[in-house]
Formats: sequence, C-alpha cells, structure tokens
Amino acid sequence: MRVVIVAEHGGPEVLQVTERERPVPDEGHVLVEVDAAGVNFIDTYQRSGAYPMSLPYVVGSEGAGTVVEVGPGTDEPAPGDRVAWAMVPGSGATEYAVVPASRAVPVPAGVDLRTAAAVMLQGMTAHYLVESTYAAQEGQTALVHAAAGGVGLLLCQMLSAKGVRVIGTTSTSDKADHARAAGAHDVVRYRAAEGRSPAVDLVAEVTRLTDGEGVDVVYDGVGQATFDAGLALLRPRGTMVLFGAASGPVAPVDPQTLNTAGSVYLTRPSLAHYLQGRDELLWRARDVLGAVERGDLRVSIGATYPLERVADAHRDLESGTTSGKLLLAP
Ligand code: NDP
Repeated sequence: MRVVIVAEHGGPEVLQVTERERPVPDEGHVLVEVDAAGVNFIDTYQRSGAYPMSLPYVVGSEGAGTVVEVGPGTDEPAPGDRVAWAMVPGSGATEYAVVPASRAVPVPAGVDLRTAAAVMLQGMTAHYLVESTYAAQEGQTALVHAAAGGVGLLLCQMLSAKGVRVIGTTSTSDKADHARAAGAHDVVRYRAAEGRSPAVDLVAEVTRLTDGEGVDVVYDGVGQATFDAGLALLRPRGTMVLFGAASGPVAPVDPQTLNTAGSVYLTRPSLAHYLQGRDELLWRARDVLGAVERGDLRVSIGATYPLERVADAHRDLESGTTSGKLLLAP
C-alpha cells in the first residue's frame, strides 16, 4: 500500500510517498480502507518539528473509510461498516489505516465518506469551542478570526444557529463572502492578502460595529497576529479562546494584562482534552455528523489532493490562501 511518511523534520519537501506492507489489526483495532483523509494544521506543526515527533512517522490523524478487517476480540465496528475518526496518529495519509475500535465513529447513511473525513476534526473542534469552552448564548457577540477557514466556517454556522452575532475576520473579499454565507453578520478585512487592498484597523472597526461595547468572546485560531487586538476588543469579563497559531505562537502573557483588558478570561484549549473517553467522542461526533446529515451544517471542501500531492496540500494550507477543508484522497 502507499503511505506518506516523514523521516526528518522540515518543509513540505520532506513528505515522502512510499510503499509499505498492509498492516494487520491487533486486538481492539480495525483495518480501514481509507476513502479520504483530512489535512490539518497539526500535520504541518508535526512535519516541521514545531511539535517534535519520533521519526519516521506516518502523516495524518483523521479520515473516513470502510472497515476491511478486524482484530481479535473486536465486534464493533465490523467489516463493511463505514467509519470516521480523528486524533489517531498515523491514520491519515495512507491507503489503509489501523484505527482503535474505540476511536472509530459510525458514519450515518446520509453522509458520504469524504464529507465525514472533512468534518471530524474541525467539526468536533468547533463543537467543543462553542458548547464547552465558551458556550456563547443568544444575544451575545463573538469575534471569529479566519472565519472562512476550515474551523472558522463551522464556528460561524454553529454560533449563528444559536442566535449569537458573529463578527468574522478574513483576508479577502472572496473569503468574506464565504464567511457571510456561513452566518457571519459582519466581516472585517483584518489582514491584507498579497497584492490586495490594505487591511482595515481591526480594533477600530470592531469597536465601531459594537458601538464601543466590544465582544463577549473571541475565538482565535490565528494567534500571534490577532491576539493583542482580540484582548483589546473584549468587553469586561469577556473570554479569549486562543485555540491555534496559524500566524505563529503568541508571546508569553503577563497575567496583569488580563486585568487591564477588563478582568478577562484566557484559555488555550485542545481537542484532546475535550474528547475524554468514548462517550464524549460519540456525543460530539454524532452531534456534528447528525447536523450534516440533516443539512443543518454545511461542510465546505476547499480542495482534494491525490496522495502524491500531499506536499502541495501542506503548502497551500500553510500559505493561508485556502478556504474550507483540505482533503487527501488515497
Ligand atoms: P484554516 O483553514 O483556518 O487556515 C488558517 C487560516 O488562518 C488561513 O486560511 C488564513 O485565513 C488565516 N491566517 C492568518 N494569518 C495566517 C498566516 N500567517 N499563515 C497562514 N494562515 C493565516 O485552518 P484550520 O481550520 O485547519 O485551523 C485553524 C486553526 O485552528 C489553526 O491554528 C489550527 O492549529 C487550530 N486548531 C486547533 C485545534 C484545537 O483543538 N486547539 C483543533 C483544530 C485546529 P485568512 O486568509 O482569512 O486570514
């Protein structure tokens, strides 16, 4: 089978497509023929060494496909079942993946495998951010950075469905259109994409849009470039949810900064801590996949790459030019 490995940390050029024996699932595991695998920022952090890995490793942690073999003592899922998963190291960029049965989630009949692969990690992320980290309520205002990104488009939909006013940020007017279609009420051009018109003053513009009140919560997956502005835009006792670093990591924060900003709260959550056991996984995955099946949650797939073009997928994601989810189709 073909599989993408990283044998040394570095840029996208270190991604190698190679041949390996098809693995045999051991106890408590299933072997899945992968239909599609998600490409995520964490894949780029692991590849570059920002999150050091033990080398070599198989790239990717998210996908969906059909079970072809089960390990001893594994009743569920069974061969022929359609399953999806996230946060399973080495299970993405490969034709066949070994997945712990406890991490495999049934894909509802009305959801195709590519859509399931596209929504597992980002969908459960948006779910925990708006349901558990900060459960924004009807009538509140949320600032969502990179609102046309994979997580961003899902956040816009989930928040606006709750009656939360969403102010999104994007780098281009095309992305602003995507964010608006996903439910963002206002969109601010917070950074200038190359060769495009300059960005607006984010703090001044959001202050104007909120009549000087500021926002109840900031969902920030951009990090370095947006963190300070987000803090400045929180209303007193607001919450800064810093969940990523697409523009680079945020510098250490003096706790006094949180006081000056209005006795605000700061949290830096990770999906792993919001998937504590099978029950929590099934709750989040079923909520997300169920909403997709009912047509309440739209999944935007920005591009799908063959395994051989995995380096292009990483380059495109890191360039900040993509919208929606990127997939590999092994
Ligand atoms: P996106 O599709 O949102 O891509 C990132 C976006 O960030 C870009 O499209 C771009 O949007 C914006 N951006 C701003 N500055 C930069 C920059 N310097 N370089 C690249 N992009 C930039 O990615 P994902 O939806 O996959 O992930 C979003 C964030 O969420 C990431 O930081 C990721 O690590 C994090 N994440 C965190 C999880 C958690 O549990 N904590 C789980 C999953 C993801 P624009 O052009 O509009 O500026």
